[in-house]
Amino acid sequence: MTRILTTGNEQRGAGTALRKTRGAPDGRVASDIGSMSRTTSLRNAMSIDVEEFFQVWAFASTTSRDEWGSFDSRVEYSTGVALRLFDEAGVRATFFTLGWVAEKHPQMIREIVAAGHEIASHGYDHAKVTEQTRDEFRKDVTRAKAILEDISGQEVLGFRAPSFSIGADTLWAQDVLHDTGHRYSSSIFPVVHDHYGMPDASRFAYRTECGLLEVPMSTIRAFGRNLPCGGGGYFRVAPYRYFQWAIRRLNAAEGQPAVFYFHPWELDPEQPRMSGIPLKSRFRHYVNLRRMERRLERLLADFKWDRMDKVFLDT
Ligand SMILES: [Zn+2]
Repeated sequence: MTRILTTGNEQRGAGTALRKTRGAPDGRVASDIGSMSRTTSLRNAMSIDVEEFFQVWAFASTTSRDEWGSFDSRVEYSTGVALRLFDEAGVRATFFTLGWVAEKHPQMIREIVAAGHEIASHGYDHAKVTEQTRDEFRKDVTRAKAILEDISGQEVLGFRAPSFSIGADTLWAQDVLHDTGHRYSSSIFPVVHDHYGMPDASRFAYRTECGLLEVPMSTIRAFGRNLPCGGGGYFRVAPYRYFQWAIRRLNAAEGQPAVFYFHPWELDPEQPRMSGIPLKSRFRHYVNLRRMERRLERLLADFKWDRMDKVFLDT
């Protein structure tokens, strides 16, 4: 049975009051989620969604899957930058990886595992849950899990939906993930966003009725709404001090670990520029790429980080 780990803080006598998962479907109570002590020494969860620069959904209107083979691969280079930064900071992280990428770069997967990181699934070819039937989704996640396990030699426990595409209309996907042997999902971003988001969802980890653990991306509650502080384009746009403040507040005032993510291509300012993409998508993808490495270094140094499974599962 999966159980939330609360790090050493719980053992030091933190309270274990029940925490209502605000907005969780059916008002579920995460009764096994112990609240953590009010300290900033919590371990937070660091993750990276491993995909090529040309596979992001912002480019889907101009770049079809059939064209993917015509681009030069940059993922080994950019994932290598992330591996170096993690190594220098002494951080282990979770790599939510596309089956498509793993098939083409098996040695990279083995290097990730050898460095002590967790391999998890980002699906096979970046299809959104919202664009698949239940059967198609089952096939996609089963295929990705098998490929990743074959190459890594590790059991794949975690899944992150492309574009955080598990929301109010696709909660059935959580049953499929549980049926196919996944133990946790990190696929919901409880914010208002034009491409994804389930603003009423729980802000913190909760167990679904089927037994899957859902670990939403981090937000902070301010001005009557959920503000994102779990990475993505926001991390390159908002001042670093906002993220520092928000994660400190999550840890100290709410006793919760942060769940942070980024992409390899965000560490690759030299990546080829895509043409014909909408202005908004262009801005989101390319803004402040040159600042990313420095910012990430600072974030890795300012907080404690670990793999998703080590923070949230009893592994
Ligand atoms: Zn993705």
